[in-house]
Amino acid sequence: MFDKREDFLPFSKPSFDRLEEEEIISCLRSGWITTGPRCQALEKAFAAKLGGGARAVAVNSGTAALHLALLALGVGPGQDVLTSSFTWVSTANVIVHVGAGPVLADIDPRTFNLDPAAVERVIAESYQPGPDGRPVHRTTGRTLTTLLPVHYAGQACDMAPLLELARAHRLDVVEDAAHAVGTTYQGVPAGRLGRVGCFSFYANKNLTTGEGGMVTAEEEALIDRVRMFSLHGLDKGAWKRYAKDGQWYQVIHEPGFKYNLTDIAASLGLHQLAKVEGFNVRRRELAAIYDQELAKIPGLRLSQDLGLGVHARHLYPIVVTPAAAQDRAAVIRGLGELNVGTGVHYVPVHLHPYYQEAHGFREGDFPETEAVYQGEISLPLFPTMSDDDARYVGRALAHLLGAA
Ligand SMILES: *Cc1c(COP(=O)(O)O)cnc(C)c1O
Repeated sequence: MFDKREDFLPFSKPSFDRLEEEEIISCLRSGWITTGPRCQALEKAFAAKLGGGARAVAVNSGTAALHLALLALGVGPGQDVLTSSFTWVSTANVIVHVGAGPVLADIDPRTFNLDPAAVERVIAESYQPGPDGRPVHRTTGRTLTTLLPVHYAGQACDMAPLLELARAHRLDVVEDAAHAVGTTYQGVPAGRLGRVGCFSFYANKNLTTGEGGMVTAEEEALIDRVRMFSLHGLDKGAWKRYAKDGQWYQVIHEPGFKYNLTDIAASLGLHQLAKVEGFNVRRRELAAIYDQELAKIPGLRLSQDLGLGVHARHLYPIVVTPAAAQDRAAVIRGLGELNVGTGVHYVPVHLHPYYQEAHGFREGDFPETEAVYQGEISLPLFPTMSDDDARYVGRALAHLLGAA
């Protein structure tokens, strides 16, 4: 008989200690709770972690970071943005928010990341070279201006061929680095691989502020535009307007958004940032245990680490294949009954009713994405999990799939 654990192992759990608690209390007692010195310190430390002249703007979500990146680059109507269908839907939603066309491509079945060959195929099949060298869509007439790769689960996309395609077609590259604090590719950190990097500090991300995000770029003018759009369209430094040296007369030249991060949230971020490399080491140890435990279970497909850089292990995805003894829903149910929490990442963008109805996507458009999605389950993975927790999940899966 399978020995069921007593307590529930959640899919994800944030790791805080007294450092975060004390920082929040100091923040509250300081009287400055919204964007201020702690956000500034977090931006500075985050940029320093990326190195290479990176600059950073703290915002209140990863979605806001992506939205502002596109706005700052001037992406809008008449343009297309190409991303992976296998992502959280906000990656595609922001393309729609700025008035551009969402274009999708399939994934590499080994990594579940945007496949450079699929991107090349989409461009070759649907676009022709426009007057300025950028691809113009054969039917809509829109210009493809931006590539938006998602570093799925914490492994960087294969950026060398993607950057080569971007260079050849004069595309800007915006990284969805929501899973990728600590990720590198050929020694370069995610967030510095494209023109703009977008991070999420959502509750289950490797570094969390509850809700939050960061936009990174080297170009000062671009960063200034992101900051301006993050706070109504006001000039940089506008957050000081109620401080002693603040200015009351402030006008806008463009209508921005209210996407600034609070200092309460930044209080968490400052300490999370200092600890995130340690968190990621632990995530990789747990992933190695999973690799070992799961290799022997028939009917399971695992994602491959191509070894092109550091994997941040935000997620540990498994794929229950049609050859397995049970289908995905039954495995999720079975794991739940054995006190194991799971997630599914993600319902592909092209299978959402909105993207089918408004943008013409259909089931069958991206076979590799669909094959992974059909069987995908994300296993529990967070730094305070024990080795035994990971082994228990392995045993539970072996039990459910008849390999025990
Ligand atoms: C979490 C996430 C986002 C959005 O971040 P939020 O902070 O939740 O807005 C975007 N893309 C991907 C791939 C994500 O996982």
